[in-house]
Amino acid sequence: MPIRSQIRPAAVEIIRRLTQNNYEAYIVGGAVRDLLLGRTPKDFDIATSATPEQVRAVFGRGRCHIIGRRFKLAHVFAARDSYYEVSTFRRQPTADERCARDDDDGVVIWSDNEYGAIEEDAQRRDFTVNALYLDVIGDRGIIDFTGGLKDIEQRMVRTIGQAETRFTEDPVRMLRALKLVGMHQMTLAPETEAAISRLCGRIRQASVARLFDELLKIFQTDCAGAILQTCRQHGLLSTLWPGLASIWDKPPGRIALGMLQARDRATKKGDYSTSRALALATPCLPYVMNILRTHDNGVFPLWDSTMNKQCGHAIRSFYDGFVLPHVLTARIRAMILMVPPLAEGVQIDYLAQQPDYKYGRELLRLLVESCRWDPALMQNLPEPGQPATSGAGRLPRKRRRRPRRPRQPEAEPAAEATMPDASP
Ligand code: ATP
Ligand code: MG
Repeated sequence: MPIRSQIRPAAVEIIRRLTQNNYEAYIVGGAVRDLLLGRTPKDFDIATSATPEQVRAVFGRGRCHIIGRRFKLAHVFAARDSYYEVSTFRRQPTADERCARDDDDGVVIWSDNEYGAIEEDAQRRDFTVNALYLDVIGDRGIIDFTGGLKDIEQRMVRTIGQAETRFTEDPVRMLRALKLVGMHQMTLAPETEAAISRLCGRIRQASVARLFDELLKIFQTDCAGAILQTCRQHGLLSTLWPGLASIWDKPPGRIALGMLQARDRATKKGDYSTSRALALATPCLPYVMNILRTHDNGVFPLWDSTMNKQCGHAIRSFYDGFVLPHVLTARIRAMILMVPPLAEGVQIDYLAQQPDYKYGRELLRLLVESCRWDPALMQNLPEPGQPATSGAGRLPRKRRRRPRRPRQPEAEPAAEATMPDASP
């Protein structure tokens, strides 16, 4: 099917209105890339010659909101809760303009609101495969100023301009490059790869909020496991996410990766919740259980009154370096602490009434898949919103025994699937 016909009609309508008002407007970035790679785009970004204020004049205040400071752009609403990002063609600021800025976001990002022509706009984008413009109204087809079409064909991620300069300007681009590699089985151009291996330690110079944003975006894909594996291969994980890196090669890390891969498979089938808290709880569960059960040789920790506090502490240490809002920490904790009683078949009737039951159950399902436990464990847990059946939950017989307290301070490590020790 021609890619033009796969563009959402609402995006085409926005582009048509802009061109009728004598502005240039194109679909740009991830949507063109994804369509050429045979994937369904997550969203359709629009680039135009109109400034945000001119876009607002075309669509009216009711339908268009201007957002952003570092990067001002227009949101044009198609329905009450769906909007399209319309950004104005920009150019790279000159060295003088960069020095004059006092509104930087983080250490190296300067304000990016210098408007320009489409050719200049292409040059300031991150990668050649992200700098393709699709003309849906006129007859220009795909407009390529940087060699992106050839790189799409070769599945190659290449920075526009000198890689080292582009990553120093904005270290988040390193994560974006590895996300493309992990998601689309692409390879890095040699110069891009060499620059990442030299500069990966600088990822933390980006603002924490932007890094957390990118992390959430990774969890919105169906390739989170592959993307994090790519980050690990290219040396980025230890600086980006020390909590996950600390367990990566140990059993809890292997279980976390297995859970992420199980989650990715479920997402591909459309069989997974889009809850952010659940996504963040998924790789965190094995880490937390491992910390909570330090003096215990069972599968899960024995309940004690300090567990809430300890669990919150472990979640924060896993996400150390990101800004996890309190409300998210509380939700992740509620989900994680639901897993042991669900697995042991304790208080199922009560738990099934809790708002986070569906997520606790989902976490347990991913754990069962990752640890290759008997899937029968899940069968008797009621579907969310349904009454419990007797015998719900229950770990397989062998695992159900109450864990014994070790006699010696140093207990034998438990079996692989029981998340043995790995200090954070
Ligand atoms: P996704 O499928 O995740 O939306 P995307 O490439 O569309 O991928 P966005 O964050 O939506 O990612 O960004 C839209 C476009 O803006 C990119 O394709 C790229 O051209 C440009 N862009 C985004 N972030 C940067 C950056 N840090 N530096 C330069 N250009 C960027
Ligand atoms: Mg996009």
